[in-house]
Parts: sequence; C-alpha cells; structure tokens
Amino acid sequence: MAAPPITLCPSAQPDWQDARVFAVVGGTPDRPETAYLDQAEPVTPELLALASPVAPAEVFRIAAPCAQGACQHFDNTGHACRLAQKTVGLMPIAFEKLPRCAIRADCRWWQQEGASACRRCPQVVTVNFTPTRSMRQAADPDVISATPVGPDAFQPAA
Ligand code: SF4
Repeated sequence: MAAPPITLCPSAQPDWQDARVFAVVGGTPDRPETAYLDQAEPVTPELLALASPVAPAEVFRIAAPCAQGACQHFDNTGHACRLAQKTVGLMPIAFEKLPRCAIRADCRWWQQEGASACRRCPQVVTVNFTPTRSMRQAADPDVISATPVGPDAFQPAA
C-alpha cells in the first residue's frame, strides 16, 4: 500500500522530525533571495554545520511535515496555515515567475494559496533579524488576519 501523502511546512525548524533542506537564502538582509535546490536534502549535523556561525534557519529553508494543530500558526477552525495566508496577504510579490521548487507537490503553502505563495516565498527567511514590517506581521502568531501594513521598500524582480 502506498504511504499516505505528507503535507510539508516550508518554514520548518531543523530539529523537526523528517526535516529536509530545500533552499538556501542568499541576497542581502534588505532583499533576501532564496535559491531552490534541485532536490531536498535530509538535515544532518554536517549540513547544519555549514550555516555556522549563524543559525541554520537564517540561511537554510527547511521543510518538514506540517504540525497542523500543534503549530501556533495553524487555524484549527479553518484548517489552514495563517502564516501562509498572511504571507500572501501582507508581503509583496518577490518574483512573478514561479521558482522551481522540489517540494511544491507536498507544500502546504502551495496547496493552500497556490502561485500567490510561491511568488512571495523567495523573500521568506525562517529566522530573520531584519524583517520588513510586513514580514514581521506575517510571522507574528498574534496577528490573526492579513491587514495590509503599508508599503515596504521591497520591489518585485522580473
Ligand atoms: S510556497 Fe511555493 S516556492 Fe515556497 S516552498 Fe512552497 S511550493 Fe516551494
């Protein structure tokens, strides 16, 4: 019998079960730009060590099975990820063209928000010490809905 499909969170932490790296964050603090890997790689101590001296989630995008109701971002009533909703509602488009992404078929954000999530995904940094206002709002679990907070300096690239 085939294994049941797994829905992946694309903003997971490295210590989550079955975590895998699917992208690397580059660019600048003001304009993070994610490079997506051809295939997701299992998280190992050796891989995480490559992030030193910063935290792995500052430079790696990590996917792991969505924790659903155990996650502070999950809306049990609507059975939806609020982080994905707010990322789409608050953050500007980063790229019009969808990135090639190894986890797309299983990604919760893609399944829930479609291409709108992928167009914003390249600017997402899981641990970000210099977030824009909209990034900060999107990542704050106490902010329930996506009320626009005004323009950011971030402009979409072609
Ligand atoms: S939102 Fe799109 S680009 Fe980002 S991880 Fe999910 S499928 Fe990949």
